[in-house]
Amino acid sequence: MQFKESQRLRADWDGSDCDHPRILKEYDLGAATTDWVCDTCGKEFSREERDHFNADRDQ
Ligand SMILES: [Zn+2]
Repeated sequence: MQFKESQRLRADWDGSDCDHPRILKEYDLGAATTDWVCDTCGKEFSREERDHFNADRDQ
């Protein structure tokens, strides 16, 4: 997901709870950033946070 798109998602999100069903790598133009982004609410995650989140979900 592009950084601009994640910014737009965050701006549009109404602040309600999100279980972050899909977390995508964030890109700024062609380059990958260090962050991952929920494609529903636009919340940013570090790689460690994402790994932790996925580990929780696998249980
Ligand atoms: Zn989310």
